[in-house]
Amino acid sequence: MTVAVVLFTSDLRLHDHPPLRAALRAADEVVPLFVLDPDVHAAGFDAPNRRAFLADCLADVDASLRVRGGRLVLRTGPPAREVVAVAAECGAHEVHMAAGVTRFAQLREELLRKELAGSGVRLVAHDAVVTAVAPGAVVPAGSDHFAVFTPYFRRWSTVQLRAPESAPRKVPVPDGLRSDPLPARGAGSGVSPGIPPGGESEGRRRLTGWGRGGLAAYAERHDDLAGDATSRLSPYLHFGALSPAEVVQRARTRGGPGAEAFVRQLCWRDFHYQVMAARPESSVRDYRTRDDDWRSEEEAAEEIAAWKEGRTGYPLVDAAMRQLTHEGWMHNRARLLAASFLTKTLYVDWRIGARQFLDLLVDGDIVNNQLNWQWVAGTGTDTRPHRVLNPVVQGKRFDPQGAYVRRWVPELEDVAATRIHEPWRLPEGERARLDYPEPLISLADGLARFKNARGRN
Ligand code: FAD
Repeated sequence: MTVAVVLFTSDLRLHDHPPLRAALRAADEVVPLFVLDPDVHAAGFDAPNRRAFLADCLADVDASLRVRGGRLVLRTGPPAREVVAVAAECGAHEVHMAAGVTRFAQLREELLRKELAGSGVRLVAHDAVVTAVAPGAVVPAGSDHFAVFTPYFRRWSTVQLRAPESAPRKVPVPDGLRSDPLPARGAGSGVSPGIPPGGESEGRRRLTGWGRGGLAAYAERHDDLAGDATSRLSPYLHFGALSPAEVVQRARTRGGPGAEAFVRQLCWRDFHYQVMAARPESSVRDYRTRDDDWRSEEEAAEEIAAWKEGRTGYPLVDAAMRQLTHEGWMHNRARLLAASFLTKTLYVDWRIGARQFLDLLVDGDIVNNQLNWQWVAGTGTDTRPHRVLNPVVQGKRFDPQGAYVRRWVPELEDVAATRIHEPWRLPEGERARLDYPEPLISLADGLARFKNARGRN
């Protein structure tokens, strides 16, 4: 009997899973393995919301494997040590896994390759599992990555994706291997009340519903804050419960302007991955410095606290931050605005905002979070790095009736649409009756400080 190990990481699914397919081709039996890595915990990347979603994903992979005659083996400890131990216990000659994209994942893979080589076991890392197109698969002349989205999108669109593979019908797993218990979902303990259920089965159900429903109108409706008309597939993509290549191809098969706009958005995900793969230090450092001398955390402490709690006095910013706390998710337009407000109006370092998002987002992703924050802060790949989003203008445009604000800021429930994005303009008596703060700073003062800081006066 030959045995191969499949190490699951950010690819918690059975459909369109090249490492699993390759392992099944290479051996009579496979060991589907997930290692709970204490370093992820130590680095603060397993926030309660993502821990809960991960528990759902692991339970779902295990259930799907059991239907196919197998099961998930879970171990806890440093991944290299645990994988080497499992390979030795089951006599595996090969380990298959998704190729690492982030610095963390690349280091994990390097270490594992070295340790396995010592025991004569081959590590096979498969590309385009975590992304639709592998980082580095398309590069511009003279560089190792695209720094501008549009030319990347053009080239990315020409790449032939593999035909999505179905889930295997049988997954024979050797008997007798020890597994730690799967983590429990653990409600409470910092988990936001409104997070969605995780797992591949749920992700596939949502993907199918999205294809039949919202996708067609995505081009016109994706910025409608109250309409909530985006796919909400990001957590499933983050954990790899859905294959990005399959999501792209299913949308392309449906076709139409909605699908085109949606596929373009999915390309942003790959775009950021190829930037981060080439410039891993961008998770903590400016991709393109603007020589910002951000206000210190101490100096801006009260404003940062008000921003986190959704009481800045700017209704759209406050609605966005309260949605984040409640759902562990935020609409993209709201993310843009909340991030612009912190970095440009309050002139606070993007890393402070990115940390807050990572602490709460179910889709919180070191690549897409840090690089989107940098895009908004103007230290990333935005070609208009000094633009500032105005919460009143954005509110009137993307939440014209104020329904999104009313949903999350009930203090403003009775305010008319004409004033809901600028309650400070209500008549004095009406304003005094509202239990809602005055703006932290005037937009004009914030803008002047920002322009001055960036030397643009
Ligand atoms: P849809 O509009 O349905 O888009 C489909 C998919 O495309 C998304 O699920 C996502 O995978 C991808 N996508 C869409 N927009 C972007 C984008 N700008 N960058 C990269 N991928 C994109 N996305 C994350 O997945 N994780 C994060 O941690 C994250 N942090 C962000 C922080 C800031 C400050 C900003 C401005 C954006 C961030 N995004 C992040 C990108 C985007 O906001 C979310 O992917 C999107 O809101 C998820 O909702 P959806 O699945 O309904 O998206």
